[in-house]
Order: sequence, then structure tokens, then C-alpha cells
Amino acid sequence: MDTVTHTTTVSGAVRLVTTPLTAADRCDRCDAQAYVRATLPAGAELLFCGHHAHAYRPALAAQGAQFHDETEKLTIPRVSGFSA
Ligand SMILES: [Zn+2]
Repeated sequence: MDTVTHTTTVSGAVRLVTTPLTAADRCDRCDAQAYVRATLPAGAELLFCGHHAHAYRPALAAQGAQFHDETEKLTIPRVSGFSA
């Protein structure tokens, strides 16, 4: 067996903890469920639904915002009957 020194260094480097968004998180613009959290360099957090995240993302990214994006949840195949 190899002797691998596996040291998990818990330094302050990784601080951008991505807390999952929940149904209680609402879009700051339209109050729909939020799927994207934008964190501005100053530390302020903004929550957006998929629609508004798409609308505001370029402007926020230009300001150096970090994004926690859960919009992939929106692409879960629809189960509801949509077949004719
Ligand atoms: Zn919205």
C-alpha cells in the first residue's frame, strides 16, 4: 500500500461557500423562486430567477460578481402531461 499523506488543509482560501438555494429563496426582482445567487465583490448577495439572472448576469459579471447557478434544475424533464 502506498503511504499517501492526505492532508486536507482547511485554509481560508476556499471561502466562497455555495449554499444551495431553496424554495424559500426568491428573486429580488419578481419574487419567483431564485435559481441564481450573485455575490458582488463588496459581499452583497442578489437572488434571481432564471429569467432575471439571464437579464442581469452580463452587467453583474462586468462588476466582478460571482455566480452560484442552479438553473440546471429548471431543465429537469417535465413530468406533467404535455402530450396530445
Ligand atoms: Zn425574477
